[in-house]
Amino acid sequence: MLAVFLLFSPSFTKDKKATKITFDEKAAWTYIRDMSTDEMRGRQSGQPSGVMGEEYVASKFKEWGLEPAGDDGTYFQNFTIEHRHVAEGVKFEIITARERRDFYYGDSWRIQRYSGSGHFSAEIVFAGYGIHAPEKKYDDYAGVDVKGKVVMFATGSPQKLAKELGDAANTEKKIEAAQKLGALGIIAFQPSPGTGRFYGIGVRKEQYDPDFVILSIESHVTDFIFKDLKTETSYLFSEIDGKGEPQSFATGVRAFVSINSIFDEKRATRNVLARITGSDKKLKDEYVVIGGHMDHLGVSPMGDVYNGANDNASGTAVAMEIARVMKLNNAKPKRTVVFAGWAGEEQGLLGSRYYAEHSPSIEKTIAYINMDMVGHGSGNVPFRGEYYGPHIWELLEKKLPKEIMEYVKPGRGGPGGSDHSPFLQKGVPAFAIMTEGHHFKYHRPGDDIDLIKPEILKRVGDLVYAAVQILASEPGDFIEPMRQEAYYLKYEDLTNFKFEPLAHVVKAHGDAKDSHVDLQVAVVEEKEELSGAELRADIINNLFDLPERMKKAKGLSLYAPNRSISMNSRQGKTTVMLGLKGVDSFRDNPKWAKILVEQGLHFAVVEDSSFLFGDGGLSEEGKTFIPAVNSSGLLLLFKGLAAAQTKVLLEESKKPMVFLERKLPDKEILELIKEKEFVLGLILGADEDPAAYFKKLNDAKEAIGSRYLMIVNENCLWGSTGKDQMLRVISEMVKEKYESMDFFYLFSSTFTSVLRRAGS
Ligand SMILES: [Zn+2]
Repeated sequence: MLAVFLLFSPSFTKDKKATKITFDEKAAWTYIRDMSTDEMRGRQSGQPSGVMGEEYVASKFKEWGLEPAGDDGTYFQNFTIEHRHVAEGVKFEIITARERRDFYYGDSWRIQRYSGSGHFSAEIVFAGYGIHAPEKKYDDYAGVDVKGKVVMFATGSPQKLAKELGDAANTEKKIEAAQKLGALGIIAFQPSPGTGRFYGIGVRKEQYDPDFVILSIESHVTDFIFKDLKTETSYLFSEIDGKGEPQSFATGVRAFVSINSIFDEKRATRNVLARITGSDKKLKDEYVVIGGHMDHLGVSPMGDVYNGANDNASGTAVAMEIARVMKLNNAKPKRTVVFAGWAGEEQGLLGSRYYAEHSPSIEKTIAYINMDMVGHGSGNVPFRGEYYGPHIWELLEKKLPKEIMEYVKPGRGGPGGSDHSPFLQKGVPAFAIMTEGHHFKYHRPGDDIDLIKPEILKRVGDLVYAAVQILASEPGDFIEPMRQEAYYLKYEDLTNFKFEPLAHVVKAHGDAKDSHVDLQVAVVEEKEELSGAELRADIINNLFDLPERMKKAKGLSLYAPNRSISMNSRQGKTTVMLGLKGVDSFRDNPKWAKILVEQGLHFAVVEDSSFLFGDGGLSEEGKTFIPAVNSSGLLLLFKGLAAAQTKVLLEESKKPMVFLERKLPDKEILELIKEKEFVLGLILGADEDPAAYFKKLNDAKEAIGSRYLMIVNENCLWGSTGKDQMLRVISEMVKEKYESMDFFYLFSSTFTSVLRRAGS
């Protein structure tokens, strides 16, 4: 190791006469080596090993003379994380009357989320499904004493009683019962062997008790517990399932348990931040941030150290080396450059999220570049984020040196997987670098320094260093208005409800690429002068060469129920869903609705629906029309119904329908919509004020939830008027802290799911 150290030791020359110093991959390599020694214990945030990693990065920044950019003039940004940790050195043995066996962690048993610690040898009580519901006349704890013992129970509930028992069969209720009755812990298993590996069980963090252990075992351990008993689980469960009667008993078999497992809701941890303050009076208040996560997985319960050299000492080291070289070169960027080592990435992007949500500078950050796993691979360097920061990529593409551009592979990008995500969600153009090719020993012991390729670090380092220099000093305004809103518009699957004729859609948007419109409804129009069979022939004619036409439209993809819209959008394509404008084509013969559905039509917009209604109910025609449409699978979208008519449809239609409304319907109708799983499409009028519209939308959401509600725009969303109006609605949604699921439903999913329900 010593020879290697000398060979790769960076030269900290202060020689000012020297030409500009370039990124030194050998230096970066030494930081990775230092961070991935066994002594570093895998740098787990919230553990002493995490602190060691943090101290290391900060000490280097200090050594090189970088300005601290953390709290109170330090390099550290303090925050807390919800932290779970199992200390190494766990033990689990089963002691029967004849034998004692030690089981291997991970292969045979696991410690479940929110388990506490335990050091004991205690008798195992078999308690069937572990359900304690005397009020429902079922109690697996009746007649057995579990105080000071370990309860073993199966997941699930007796088939016969599943409905009656309801909540009482939830894992959290089972654990609550064992805790209340004084057990030391539980061992959960799967009742029927051959169901595969045991996965996590649902425990709430409120159930954490520092002295109560929550374990799971694989079926071969269950078999061993029963090995010398005069009964077996298959018999016991057939009795429980068959008779609905508990079969609990104290087994006489003991478990020896020794584990230290903690859950801490507020465990202190730290991001490490350094900066070079910008030299331009104005631009210094703008930021370019580069970084990567310092933390990794720590040590396994069995004592394996996860060194995480590639994941992600590598990305941290590249950011550090760029900081060192910039400082050494006496760089004077116009904007402020921040170098970040994030904590808590492996526990859920916690450090970068904290930074994005708490640093006021985020509003003035023009771009973020993330590096995560940049030490392996074949040499190409993907640079993902083009779709979310096209203006940034455009600049880089123009200005990056040719020899760098040769190996940079720009990509669409998007949130997920690493620390660029919280930046994107704040609207900051964020780019993610993970080198191309195979990454060895991902999240396994063995992700060590000897697999790191310095020449790959060099490529990444040169790229990011050059990009930082360009971004930090290019004059101009790179902070786009409403960029957080624009992120939602781009990221979430948005439906354009401007019902345009199919021919127009193909002509105007056929070549669209990466549009913010993800689902476009298109209609086949009914010719006024035609009716009956002639009209049907005209429509079918219209659909005749549809597949051909769609194939030519490279930016579009035809809607198919089994293919998600986001799959198409990730390929840069807009999904087109076809419907009818009007229902004249099958009024004389409602059975045709089904045939039209088979031809690829999914919905019909009904503006003139008076023919459906008679005195206080459906008209004679309505009485045959509605059931025929119900069984066809066609979804009807009604416009301009009176409240009484809406109620009739809510009562008479067996399948859900959509009501397009400008105003909120009355309470009774709203309740019926929710109860019957119909949908309210709240129309965003062409001239409507976005904030006023949002108020209505929010009221509707409070009444029926976002699942049965959708935003129906009148302005075309491809154009700037419609887009701006929608951005302002999104702005209100963001302010009101709408969750991702709300966007998902309101923009597209409510529509596609009601379509599925209508079609089933
Ligand atoms: Zn990582």
